[in-house]
Amino acid sequence: MKFKLIYPKWAKLERQTEFHLPPHGPVVFAAALPDYVDVEFVDENLEEINFDDPVDFVGISMMLTIQVKRGWEIADIYRKRGIKVIFGGISTMLHSEETMEHADSVFLGEAEGRMEKVFSDFKNDKLQKAYNYMDDRPPIEIVGTARREILKRDLYNYKGVQMVDLVHASRGCRFNCYPCAVSYLGGRSFRPRPIDKSIEEMESIDNNRLFLVDNSLAQDTKWEMDLFREMIPLKKNWCSHPIENKPEVLDLAAQAGAWYVYQAVFDTSDLIKDRIKRYHDHGIGVEGTILLGLDTHTEDYIKRLIDFLLEIELDLAEFTVLAPFPHTKAWDDLNKQKRIFSYDWDEYSADRVVYYPKHMTPEKLQELFTYAWDTFYKDEPQSIKMFKLLQKVVRKEKEANTFTPRRRDLAKRAFGKEAA
Ligand code: SF4
Repeated sequence: MKFKLIYPKWAKLERQTEFHLPPHGPVVFAAALPDYVDVEFVDENLEEINFDDPVDFVGISMMLTIQVKRGWEIADIYRKRGIKVIFGGISTMLHSEETMEHADSVFLGEAEGRMEKVFSDFKNDKLQKAYNYMDDRPPIEIVGTARREILKRDLYNYKGVQMVDLVHASRGCRFNCYPCAVSYLGGRSFRPRPIDKSIEEMESIDNNRLFLVDNSLAQDTKWEMDLFREMIPLKKNWCSHPIENKPEVLDLAAQAGAWYVYQAVFDTSDLIKDRIKRYHDHGIGVEGTILLGLDTHTEDYIKRLIDFLLEIELDLAEFTVLAPFPHTKAWDDLNKQKRIFSYDWDEYSADRVVYYPKHMTPEKLQELFTYAWDTFYKDEPQSIKMFKLLQKVVRKEKEANTFTPRRRDLAKRAFGKEAA
């Protein structure tokens, strides 16, 4: 059976350097497909969809809210041609009711152990309108190694430098932060995969640079330390969302190849300052993720925050404005207060203001968003800061003897000089 799995394109963040990471959801999903399914993956961000290709069944995998409208358009084209379409992925779960209007079926939840039924129903012409497993998650032990072989890997590079490969060692998150939908999507409990299975998967990836896309590694100190200990022999370098900043954890993380972390910077406290310093003291870079437009944010506060970011010497910063995604506390509050003025999902890109901020006009917040990017990168553009972060990993690879000549060539092509 020929199954075409499509990842719809979306417009990139206005100020962000454009690069494309290999998507994770579709390769994890593909690992759950029955053996008889012949899957072809198309990432529309990097290649055109050939709608004339003969195909039995189409899957549309959507991660972001800004993918949904394009996903619906693609489905409409296939369905007009009499080909059935099933949707899955994070933003299908966030926008399930609207998505159903464009789908023969929607799959909600985690795919492991469920696809035999879905595909058997399809074969027997009994496809259900919805498969809802949101409250019935499969045992974490059955999550297998993602099928990265469906990716056209050469497409994923930045100016010739191979991108990181994505992998996860856990699901769920025990926190429930204001703008985040993870507790709705993956549950409030932290569900670590068996460490040996995660390690086996990391080892199988033909790339020394990984991105651990776990929601947060900082959820269980013992597990985190055990994981890092087992990762040391792999000699991989990796970035991730936050890790705990206890010295014993950071020591192990550094030995395990921690390259840089994404760290939310939400205030100008000594706590944040010390945390960033501690990462740096362990040779771990920090990309700050800074969300603008919370109800506590005034114009003065945002300007002070940018000065603070420069003071604490973040390696990179990514600014976004609050986007009230459905099924978040932000959505509940702003919707109830009738402060959302756009429900056009293409505008939920986190670089456009779609609601009335508390202390300023939407236009002022939009202006401050531009101010934040311009001010932070005034003395050193983003491309130089990225290059410095790349130098950090190249140094680590040279020390560990894992820097390949191919990498050296690619780095030279990308930056016009030796990345060392
Ligand atoms: S923002 Fe991160 S830590 Fe907070 S709930 Fe979402 S995934 Fe968990």
